[in-house]
Amino acid sequence: MHKPRIFIVNCYADNHRHARGNRWFAPQSMATGVLAGQLNAQTTDIRVWCEFKDGPLLDLKPLAWADMLVLTGLNTAYDRMRHLTAYAKTLNPKTVVVAGGPAVRMLHKLSKQFFDHVCTGDAEQLADVVANEFGSHHRAEIPTPRFDLMAWPGPIGYAESSRNCNFRCSFCSMTAENRPFTSYDLNMLERLLIPQADRNCIMMLDQNFFGGSRDGVLLRLERMKQLHQRGHLQGWSALVTGDFFKDPAYLGRFKEAGCIGFFTGVESFSAAQIAAYNKKQNLVVPQFENIRNCLDAGLVFHYGLVLDLYERSVKEVTTELDMLLTEPRITLPSFLSLAIPLLGTPLFKTRLHQKALLPGLKLRDMDGRSVMTQTIDPLNVAVDFARRMDTGLLPKWKLAGRAASLTWHYARKLRPIAMTSALADVVAMAYPRLGSAGRDGFFPSKGGRSYCATTEPTGTLYRPQINVADRYQAFFSPLQVTDAEGALCQSLVDDLG
Ligand code: SF4
Repeated sequence: MHKPRIFIVNCYADNHRHARGNRWFAPQSMATGVLAGQLNAQTTDIRVWCEFKDGPLLDLKPLAWADMLVLTGLNTAYDRMRHLTAYAKTLNPKTVVVAGGPAVRMLHKLSKQFFDHVCTGDAEQLADVVANEFGSHHRAEIPTPRFDLMAWPGPIGYAESSRNCNFRCSFCSMTAENRPFTSYDLNMLERLLIPQADRNCIMMLDQNFFGGSRDGVLLRLERMKQLHQRGHLQGWSALVTGDFFKDPAYLGRFKEAGCIGFFTGVESFSAAQIAAYNKKQNLVVPQFENIRNCLDAGLVFHYGLVLDLYERSVKEVTTELDMLLTEPRITLPSFLSLAIPLLGTPLFKTRLHQKALLPGLKLRDMDGRSVMTQTIDPLNVAVDFARRMDTGLLPKWKLAGRAASLTWHYARKLRPIAMTSALADVVAMAYPRLGSAGRDGFFPSKGGRSYCATTEPTGTLYRPQINVADRYQAFFSPLQVTDAEGALCQSLVDDLG
């Protein structure tokens, strides 16, 4: 009997225009495995591809093979989803294309122009779509992510115990989607973690492991502890929100359960900026204090910073970054990003109302590495700053000193994998493009970056690699967010107006 052939692709638009994937980067995406887990592995023939890990899908044969192409990806990957649709429909006009993910949910009316099925729900919706197309016996009996298909290299594995977030930060896609925080059945943890028992560390990719009721957090924690004590979980890390650090007793309890550290969205050390982002949970305990307390308790602290050049000058954010180097006992950010007014968020609506989005803004360039709004400084100063983000904003000799001081203070307190990850952040600050091949070269004249959303070239992935059918040619035009005046493009008004 013919098994439906289902090809699941996590699309990715790399802001460095990589020619290859980011196999060794942490965290990796779980999306394709979670989607595959909704389907019956016995009755369907499933293949997956993650463009983040594996690089752009350049071998198009699986697109001709598939009865159904399932696409997901972050906002900036929306164009890439249209490209693969054009290829798939050209190579096999009978292919059914299913699309989901945050951009599709935000642009669900527009998306009907491009995809056969537009999913506005969570991964579980895929089972409904497959049941409608091929029969209900293709649903998984007990949906469980297929991480066996992911082939993540190295010592790190991934899992999650909940979905969505209980906070509503103004820039976050969680806020735009406004879905409730939901804990999974705790038995799911065993199904996810026991097969990954040989990994040194499992990154729990919940939006907020500390979300929901305190009783719920303690139940999750207790299950993690049991798995750790039984030898099914060597170590783990979690994403938590700033309010977690209010009660220092949690640090000890998490450590006892095998936790090795945290990622938390610090975003900024400026209280005014944090308040502007409605991230009040970050004002509960001074941020430097959080980081030091956490490290002193033997748990590594990772975080990212958002640099908002519409609200703050280059001088201000540079001073903030320099300040990080005056405190030898804190870890450095894992990444720096320009503020992104993601589609549908309060920040997006505010910037649109302020007429602050640059004219001719493409969704592809809302990636945190291109200037996409008006800026306090002259635009060329802001663009130069964005360019320098790629070569490192902090002096390398000072970063070498920071690596030494972190090692001195914490090598005996942190587990080796946690210490290594703290040093990896220092390297990331020194060499932000480390490992990047730069698919399209470095110079705008050769297809490289301009660092300004109005002039940023889209790159060679936007040139069809085969002759696509006429009706799909337009799928290779980048999706415009603003028009020549900086107003919302007419095509998005139904979804976002
Ligand atoms: S705490 Fe994090 S996940 Fe939750 S809304 Fe804020 S930014 Fe989003």
